[in-house]
Amino acid sequence: MKKFLLILLITSIGISFYFYQQNNKLRLMLIERGEKISGNDKYVEMLTKKIELLRNATSKSSKEENLEDLLEKISFKEKAEKKSYANPNTPDLIPINGKYKISQKFSSKHPAVDFATQTGTKIISAADGEVLSVYEDKHYGNVVIIDHFNDYATLYAHLQKTFVEMGETLKKGQTIALSGNTGNSTAPHLHFEIMINGENVDPLNILKINAHEGI
Ligand SMILES: [Zn+2]
Repeated sequence: MKKFLLILLITSIGISFYFYQQNNKLRLMLIERGEKISGNDKYVEMLTKKIELLRNATSKSSKEENLEDLLEKISFKEKAEKKSYANPNTPDLIPINGKYKISQKFSSKHPAVDFATQTGTKIISAADGEVLSVYEDKHYGNVVIIDHFNDYATLYAHLQKTFVEMGETLKKGQTIALSGNTGNSTAPHLHFEIMINGENVDPLNILKINAHEGI
């Protein structure tokens, strides 16, 4: 009789453990499903808002042309955003926000490109990165060096004024300094170098020069 009771006890423990496990599985499944649903809800909510915005914008204007304008604006914005994120870490952006003229090209004696530009012109980061160094010396004047985390680094020299500090994170196109005539320089210009693993390469092979010429 005692033996029978013992078997009954073990069996009932076994059964309840089995049910506990099944229940737990079910609970985890429900949690997972719940998360999926809430993620999806957010997406639907965002989509609904976008549709509402479009509807409101179009209902205010009676002309169909305005809808076309709006759609064009949206697609233009999307294209622009895509373009700016195409190669965020490649230093292919002309580092000047203003008028310039190439005054000296790359050679074995001059491992850079010189952009003649008015003193005080905005100098921008050619790619996303982090400021590696900001210093002054008698040859290069005020200098900024940026690390772009993909073997690329860029150097900007003869600056009038710098706005960044060592270790600062930068976005492509962010203003880092004003151009000048500091150091060993006879006329206002930006001396711009691109290095791959510390070795200078011709910036004109990397910069998308045509896109910005004549700004
Ligand atoms: Zn130079």
